[in-house]
Amino acid sequence: MTADVSPSAEAASRTADASLRGGGIVTSTLTADWLLTADLAPDTTDVLAPLYAAAAEGMLSLPHCGACGLALELEQRVCDGCDAATVVWRPVEPAGAVHSVTVVHRREPGLVLAEGPYPVADVELASGHRLVLAPVEPGTPAPAIGDPVSIGFRRLGDVAVPGFAVPSRPDQHRPDQRRPDQHRPERPARPSPEAPS
Ligand SMILES: [Zn+2]
Repeated sequence: MTADVSPSAEAASRTADASLRGGGIVTSTLTADWLLTADLAPDTTDVLAPLYAAAAEGMLSLPHCGACGLALELEQRVCDGCDAATVVWRPVEPAGAVHSVTVVHRREPGLVLAEGPYPVADVELASGHRLVLAPVEPGTPAPAIGDPVSIGFRRLGDVAVPGFAVPSRPDQHRPDQRRPDQHRPERPARPSPEAPS
């Protein structure tokens, strides 16, 4: 099942970001998020309080069935597997793979700080949970379905909210390596024996 913790949908609404409240480890210094204004920070005292408390310490904690251990959705109260109504939050590996991805084009001055399109990924975690997440870093290109991602945290005001990050891969070209013409050779180019004459 998918839990929407991204600001994509009804966005930045409390529901969307409700999943990520940190609890306030953060200093009083406001750290500007690249995507949303701090006004949209979720309430860290509701049902998702355990998630935000862990996030404030840099950990991803998610709900499991207290009886059978099944991964539960963020606000799920009753287990699909055994009907137990005991929820246990515990840290999970902050890694998974992209199940689906959407590129959001959204202009909402005053709430949305991003001025360009940004990807929102439905990530299937190794723990079996699914989270819909915006990138931790601005300018993150849309990952491909199946791409491995790690889970990090954005700061919405003083609240840490999970986001996805794409590990750098050695086979990826850096932008500055794609335009060698901008880097003039230090020595005059010698005629290449392979060049047609
Ligand atoms: Zn269960």
